[in-house]
Amino acid sequence: ENCLMWFRTDLRIQDNIALHKASTIIFTKSEKSNYVFAIYLISPEEWRSHDVAPTRVDFWLRNLKELKKSLNELNIPLIIENVDNASDVPSVMIDWCKRLRISHLFANIEYEVDEMKRDKQVFDSATSNSIKVEMLHSQCIVKPGLLKTKEGKPYRVYTPFKNSWFRHVESDLSILESSPIPFPNSVSIRNSYLETFSFKVPSSIPGFEISSELAKITRFNFPAGEQYCHSLLSKFLLQKVSKYSDARDILSQNGTSSLSPYLASGIISARQCVYKAFISNNNKLSTGKNGIVKWIKEIIWREFYRQILVAFPHVCKNMPFKKHMKNIEWNNDEENFRRWCQGKTGYPIVDAGMRQLNGMCWMHNRARMIVAMKGERYFMSHLIDGDFANNNGGWQWCASTGSDAQPYFRIFNPTTQSEKFDPTGEYIRKWVPELKHLDSKQIHNPFGVLNESEFKKLGYPKPIVDHQKARVVALERFKKVK
Ligand code: FAD
Repeated sequence: ENCLMWFRTDLRIQDNIALHKASTIIFTKSEKSNYVFAIYLISPEEWRSHDVAPTRVDFWLRNLKELKKSLNELNIPLIIENVDNASDVPSVMIDWCKRLRISHLFANIEYEVDEMKRDKQVFDSATSNSIKVEMLHSQCIVKPGLLKTKEGKPYRVYTPFKNSWFRHVESDLSILESSPIPFPNSVSIRNSYLETFSFKVPSSIPGFEISSELAKITRFNFPAGEQYCHSLLSKFLLQKVSKYSDARDILSQNGTSSLSPYLASGIISARQCVYKAFISNNNKLSTGKNGIVKWIKEIIWREFYRQILVAFPHVCKNMPFKKHMKNIEWNNDEENFRRWCQGKTGYPIVDAGMRQLNGMCWMHNRARMIVAMKGERYFMSHLIDGDFANNNGGWQWCASTGSDAQPYFRIFNPTTQSEKFDPTGEYIRKWVPELKHLDSKQIHNPFGVLNESEFKKLGYPKPIVDHQKARVVALERFKKVK
């Protein structure tokens, strides 16, 4: 009677509830010939159908190598199995359970619709083979679905969710305590029987190869392993978090934690992150140091989008959160889309963001917000931190189709914004010297207020779109589906 731990997006030893539970069952048995085994499925068809980026697969493989070393120290063998067709996952798992005489199968829950469906099938086949299955909540600090509004409904808006999240965790801080380190198997079980199985983590998967140049960049920016990830977190809390509130929005500054690839693949848990932040904040969560509280609130966005996914699973099915928005008439110009993907739109800030995505498989949050309106799949297929809940949530927010999204009618008018936030025109004069001799009334909209010959003398381009007209078109399209 052995236990099997099925690793997925939880490639860590520490704070891994499922792994710890599996090891506890074996440890507490008086019979010492029982073992914990671990398995990881290489499932390219499933990955392709979910637009998993090749760089993310490469990141998984690098982290699996590190995980295997840590499991070796616990005498737990990690089996690597290939599954060609996604629909074969349940039968492959059951075969392994039979081969290894498994009585209990453990995994941490993945909340996306297809993953839940797959796990339900595994659960059913296992149960009919008298194998007990335990699927545990470990991706979020607060289990998705637990927090409800006064009316008993799931939260649709971030701020009340966040307030309720803080109240809940502050009322029982033990929620932040990590699951203990798993117990080791009493002896190494690398006998001749196991030698026949594959334990080797491949270096690449056909169809998911990355160029050597990209490999170099991602290995430099995002090294593998739990140990590295924890040192990154400690350094962030020590050196950067105090300035986080402001620095996080400055594109040229490396002011955020860069932990997203590690959180998305479960190299570290959200709970470990918040716990360390809580300690650095003198045992405070929602109050205390500004930077830390702000950072914890970002992790709560991650929790928010996961609870949205669980309560409103239609967002997994190519549907906007606000269902009526599905009929919005988007511009589907292939050429413009291609130029956007390549970072050749002619809008420098958009292009810089897209080139960062293509060049290092990661993009600054502020740039993600600026470039985003339509293109979720392109993001997913390039991001090393590709994460369905966060990516879908972020895209729907920017496109005004999501939960707690920016309202569709909030289309900035550049002239009034300019008059409001640069009233004397000093900022414009500094950056657009052709306009420096204009007075504070003319400077915000020279094309609109100057006569033709005066404007021509400036040597300054005409606006590429008529803002009023472009705004009306966009609003009409949103209103049509309201
Ligand atoms: P930090 O600022 O250090 O934040 C710490 C952690 O909090 C992040 O690692 C992340 O897990 C979480 N977090 C931060 N901001 C958000 C947010 N807005 N929503 C949800 N969680 C957040 N994040 C992903 O992990 N994967 C994605 O695929 C993804 N796609 C996005 C698409 C769009 C259009 C937008 C606007 C945002 C997207 N985000 C995504 C959220 C955010 O941009 C990244 O999490 C963040 O830039 C990662 O950098 P960091 O780890 O340095 O963040």
